[in-house]
Amino acid sequence: MTHAADNNPHTGGTNYNDSFPKIPALAVGIQDADKLAAAIGKNSNITLFIRSNAKMLADTIGHNVIGEIKGTEFPDEIITIGGHLDSWDPAEGAHDDGAGCVHSIEVLRALKAIGYKPKRTIRVVLFVNEENGLRGGNKYAEEAKAKNEKHLFALESDEGGFTPRGFGFTMPKEKLQKVRQWLPLLMPYGTFELNEGGGGADIGPLNRALGTPLAGLSPDSQRYFDFHHARSDVFEAVNKRELELGAVNMAALIYLVDKYGL
Ligand SMILES: [Zn+2]
Repeated sequence: MTHAADNNPHTGGTNYNDSFPKIPALAVGIQDADKLAAAIGKNSNITLFIRSNAKMLADTIGHNVIGEIKGTEFPDEIITIGGHLDSWDPAEGAHDDGAGCVHSIEVLRALKAIGYKPKRTIRVVLFVNEENGLRGGNKYAEEAKAKNEKHLFALESDEGGFTPRGFGFTMPKEKLQKVRQWLPLLMPYGTFELNEGGGGADIGPLNRALGTPLAGLSPDSQRYFDFHHARSDVFEAVNKRELELGAVNMAALIYLVDKYGL
């Protein structure tokens, strides 16, 4: 899952089907994979010694972290912006999804800093447990449904803190048509694509439960899999300026959705 010629294994979920034996699975780096392939190519009878210290720990309680600015005109109409707080074990998860959390918080901070008072309620949700079962996203949608909340729109950032290129949308055609008319207003910030299809794992349940229109930030994707779920996904791998650009593009889109509705 990487273009980089390094030796960082990229981890991820392993799912077992009960009708088959549970064979242990491990991720290896590209250089090790090449070494293995070359050795097996020379002698298909070689023996490989692998020791893994991995284990599953028991579940524990986690929480979504939520902050919002109440709408002045339509406080009952909620716009959710989010990323996920959890990450895989090998590193900090700076791109996946620290960047998305900072993007989301920054939208609220930026709107506040310019003195903008949103018409609708803008809510930032830092979702828990995206990587291992989506329980934060599922719980959020479950609560929204139980409380009969009106969710106008949800935006997620979970593709890294790289230079923004645009957004992907999951919503009815006529709504997407309306959003596409805003492209000239978003282009000065660096957005040049408003594509059909997109959202995010954490906000997906909201769409399934309530039909909420979704969008996902689409940053440049060339380097994401150099870091994704690997030990290289650290704070130092995030470029401050690229991160800021992602946040302002999200803030601009949220401003337009808040101002003109969907
Ligand atoms: Zn993620």
